[in-house]
Amino acid sequence: MLAVRGLTVRYGSVAAVAEVDLEVPDGQVLALLGPSGCGKSTLLRAVAGLEPAAAGTVCWDGADLARIPVHRRGFGLMFQDGVLFPHRTVAGNVVYGLRGPGWSAPARDRRVAELLELVGLAGYGARRVSTLSGGEAQRVALARALAPRPRLLLLDEPLAALDRALRERLLADLRLALSVTGTTAIFVTHDQQEAFAVADRLAVMRAGRIAQCGDPRAVWSRPVDDWVARFLGCTTVLPARPHRLPDGTWASSTFLGEVAGRAEWVGLRPSALLVDQRGTAHGTVAAVVPGPEHQVLTVQLSGPDGELPAGRVQALADPDAELEIGSAVRLRLDPTGAALLQGAARAADAVAHDTLSR
Ligand code: ADP
Repeated sequence: MLAVRGLTVRYGSVAAVAEVDLEVPDGQVLALLGPSGCGKSTLLRAVAGLEPAAAGTVCWDGADLARIPVHRRGFGLMFQDGVLFPHRTVAGNVVYGLRGPGWSAPARDRRVAELLELVGLAGYGARRVSTLSGGEAQRVALARALAPRPRLLLLDEPLAALDRALRERLLADLRLALSVTGTTAIFVTHDQQEAFAVADRLAVMRAGRIAQCGDPRAVWSRPVDDWVARFLGCTTVLPARPHRLPDGTWASSTFLGEVAGRAEWVGLRPSALLVDQRGTAHGTVAAVVPGPEHQVLTVQLSGPDGELPAGRVQALADPDAELEIGSAVRLRLDPTGAALLQGAARAADAVAHDTLSR
């Protein structure tokens, strides 16, 4: 098991990673998700031993790795650009990690064939890597990283350079490869779809610190604060009034509708507000972005009591609904796109809270 405790990494006077605690139990995939520049790569590099820690420890099964150099940690690395050896064949690249005395030639060949099969490149062994597409090259990089059975695989935005369709396919295959091999891994990404697709556990990072770590569904539906909520797609954060239902469970009411669970603040993704005749909130369309599955609207809310403090919200409409700027719409709350904030939202929103909870 990997255990990071109080890890700080500095570049000059700036702490790119600040007092991070993180654990990755054996066989789990942890996605490290955060905006560009928040310190994800630096944290990964420090775990690998490529950056010195200014404070804190990186331990494997309780043993401090501070004095263990990169190549003796038994960790595998894979980056956005897999950096294959250009003059070697596919097999020549995959076999690279299998040089130790523990590997006989037949065992190595078997392992290479097994790995190429795993990443969907069976029969590619003799190909020159210079003839591969970007997606194939990343599959080879993955096979190479997995070949020596690393006790921890560190993946730094491994799919970022690929186009979207390819990324989705490779993501599914990567997830399968990690799960079939029972590999323990940290997967760094700024893309929440990717993070959710691979993660057993999700750590959201902000400005060098872990803002929240937990089960991906729990982080998604119960962000700790409004920064995490907004980072995970909530475009509106509303005050809510929690109340107990007759069956003893809790619900929280906002002026746009009710969600299950107890919170004083509710985050809404655009998918939580749907244009619907039966909706109870009214507004006027302020902007429309067409899309193949739905139109994303910005709606200026209005109501019988005049303008509501929440102002503009984002909502979804059917792709063929005839809407334009100025169209009157009604919105219905769909709780599946909502998140219950665990803590308080920003002080600026407290004004709205007071107004609305009266
Ligand atoms: P992320 O991977 O989340 O995009 P990084 O770990 O690459 O973030 O960077 C975190 C911060 O550290 C950024 O502000 C970045 O500019 C800074 N940084 C990264 N590498 C170096 C370096 N070698 N020297 C100085 N500053 C760096």
